[in-house]
Amino acid sequence: MKPCLAVDIGGTKIAVAIIDSGGVRNRNQVSTPSSTDPEDMDAVLEQLLTPFLADVDMVAVASTGIINNGILTALNPKNLGGLNEYPLQSVIERILKKPTYVINDAQAAAWAEYQTLELDMTDMAFITVSTGVGAGIVINNELVIGTNGIAGHVGHTLADPNGPICGCRRQGCVESIASGTAIGQAGKPFFGDSCDGEMVFKHFAEKNKNAQEIISTSAQAIANLIADLKMVLDIELVALGGSVGLAPGYIQLVQHHLSQQPKPYQIKIQSAVCGANAGLIGVENWVKHNL
Ligand SMILES: [Zn+2]
Repeated sequence: MKPCLAVDIGGTKIAVAIIDSGGVRNRNQVSTPSSTDPEDMDAVLEQLLTPFLADVDMVAVASTGIINNGILTALNPKNLGGLNEYPLQSVIERILKKPTYVINDAQAAAWAEYQTLELDMTDMAFITVSTGVGAGIVINNELVIGTNGIAGHVGHTLADPNGPICGCRRQGCVESIASGTAIGQAGKPFFGDSCDGEMVFKHFAEKNKNAQEIISTSAQAIANLIADLKMVLDIELVALGGSVGLAPGYIQLVQHHLSQQPKPYQIKIQSAVCGANAGLIGVENWVKHNL
């Protein structure tokens, strides 16, 4: 049997690689088309995937957005422009003529992180804090996807009913307070209109009080989210990833805020370890696990 082709479709880049016992090989990466025309996405995928046609037997895809029965939709329509309701699975099946399986990228990354844990752990969550806030949840040794592919979109649970309007149009989602985008927005009054999350973290590293407060507010929202997940799902561990989640000093702040909660809410929080290939590795392993 030939190996599996893994594809990771993000808001800024699309990565592809063959994954087999030797690990990740023939990795290639292109920018996600900024065009809102689905035909541009078709063309990018065709160019990227066709060279692998003879070398693989199936395709495993991790993608940003909600994957509902192979169709890509967005909670935050701004993230995907014209790609809302994009038939991702059937487009790839048409290009490569191989069985194709698609799940959300944070779900895939959660499965990758889960594979790195000790064997007796059955329930965990992976939370990525980056441009947005995403997550994947493993319960009883299985990745939870949901009937409509939405399971794990905990960035759109409520953090503050009086908070900012989220990209999904609900008010006060965790993402609208904790994400890198939200951090950059909160920094504008102090650091200027060009402020982004990275700039706030730069000031945070220099112990600027305003930056410390902004990052702490983000970390507190994530700590509360983790406490909620513990109560809803009785998970045993959270792996924290993403550019914000892995930024120096951030995980310690999340741990600090969670430590202020009563004992039943306490849970181990550790840094995610799978890095940039988490989606590719996770979705390939998940497809093999389910075949
Ligand atoms: Zn939202």
